[in-house]
Amino acid sequence: MMNNNSIPLLIHGGRIVDPGQGLDQVGDLLVDEGKIMQLGAAVILSPSLPVILKELKNLVALRTGSAKDLEAKQRLVLDATGLVICPGFIDLHCHLREPGFEDKETIATGTRAAAIGGFTTVCCMANTNPPLDNRATIDYVKEKASKEGFVHVLPIGCITKGRKGEEICPMAELAEAGVVGFSDDGDPVMSSQVMRSAMDYSHALGLPVIDHCEDKALSHGGIMNEGWVSARLGLKGIPAAAEESMVARDLVLAKLTGAKVHIAHVSTRGSVELIRQAKEKGILVTAEVTPHHLTLTEERIITSPRLTPFQEERAESSQLSALSSYDTNAKVNPPLRTEGDIKCLVEGLNDGVIEAIATDHAPHTLADKNCELELAAFGISGFETAFGCLMGLVHRGEISLTTLIAKLTAEPAKIIGKDSELGTLRVGAPANITIFDPDREWVVDSRKFVSKGRNTPFDGYQFKGKVMATVVNGRIAYMDNFLRSCFEPVPCHSEEAERPKNLAQDKLREGEESHD
Ligand SMILES: [Zn+2]
Repeated sequence: MMNNNSIPLLIHGGRIVDPGQGLDQVGDLLVDEGKIMQLGAAVILSPSLPVILKELKNLVALRTGSAKDLEAKQRLVLDATGLVICPGFIDLHCHLREPGFEDKETIATGTRAAAIGGFTTVCCMANTNPPLDNRATIDYVKEKASKEGFVHVLPIGCITKGRKGEEICPMAELAEAGVVGFSDDGDPVMSSQVMRSAMDYSHALGLPVIDHCEDKALSHGGIMNEGWVSARLGLKGIPAAAEESMVARDLVLAKLTGAKVHIAHVSTRGSVELIRQAKEKGILVTAEVTPHHLTLTEERIITSPRLTPFQEERAESSQLSALSSYDTNAKVNPPLRTEGDIKCLVEGLNDGVIEAIATDHAPHTLADKNCELELAAFGISGFETAFGCLMGLVHRGEISLTTLIAKLTAEPAKIIGKDSELGTLRVGAPANITIFDPDREWVVDSRKFVSKGRNTPFDGYQFKGKVMATVVNGRIAYMDNFLRSCFEPVPCHSEEAERPKNLAQDKLREGEESHD
């Protein structure tokens, strides 16, 4: 899917928002050869479609000189009136589970779910089996992604061999293999000395350490946030201090080593404060927050939203009703916190303490979640709900649309040092584009997820804001059925149609009906 033999695509009449370029205007975007060729109102925007087609024809004519091509190519106009066109979303933190846990997710299913969620680039975590602590496994993931992936996949390498926290990985070798950062996510490096060495190496390599901050001694046995809910239920809690003490340690080590540290899934008020202070002191720290930590509180584990008809139907036929009143789908690490924490996380987004929003997409099987709360796996399948969930913040006036887009595009691109090519609609950049309808309402139905992981606390939630199309390297990786009806495909007798078919896109078309 990453080859660039795409057909020219004119995305017409949308609101183009590219925070990296300070751009927010209604206009057109021309994509060809996998790249952004032109954008703006002045160059291509014309009062009527036929004129646009003529313009496009001229542009193409200048380049190819083939009349037959023109007849085919001029058909690819996507009407984006009323929609927002922005750089493709970048997810700094997800779990694609392959190799080793293909029953939870594969690179094919995970990246397809990512495309539906508007993500055109995802950074996959190293806790696979075998873990991404060696070149061969990283090559395997890259190879698989290039063959079966729907979006770009950038691997994150381990910090320590086997994620055991003892011996540092061959970090230079991993950097050479193309990792964008280092993390033992989920099994944080408990030894300060090992972490110090890792930061020394990552500093020399110019890559960030991506830090899952959790003092395992403090969080041990915890199931949910330590607070009034855990106390009332008599469940072991995970205190905010388990996260904050590790954030504090690693900020100190970042200062000592000069390394870039990226704090993953920040969840507490105290962490936001620590990061804010560190930034004021010039420590090279960046941070991310997840959609669920921005919108759900600890109460969610005991309070379900009103059951929707399809949930009721399922409750009858499955064990849902027998599952006590706890919702294992709200069990996540770090745990969902409090309203006060959410307020500080949103504030952190607005004042720049938190640069990025990342999903921490963590798909699990039904068996991993359909059990007692104590035994259930931590994690939320997040690709397909992230954007709808986040648009709630925009509609409630908590963050601006531009801020939201920046946190999903230009800012994460900077963190992994890819801002010249990713997270931007700059002319000449690879055409990774997300098109969404900010006002379209839809209801989450996990049965329709393309991800193998149906584990979401958002099932049955109504969201306002939906991804309508995702373009990866100039190719349409996902298109909503509604938008598809406004799109004119290439005529089948054209040269384009005779090209070798793209497997990934064909698979996408087959399954199209199932998730809209
Ligand atoms: Zn983590």
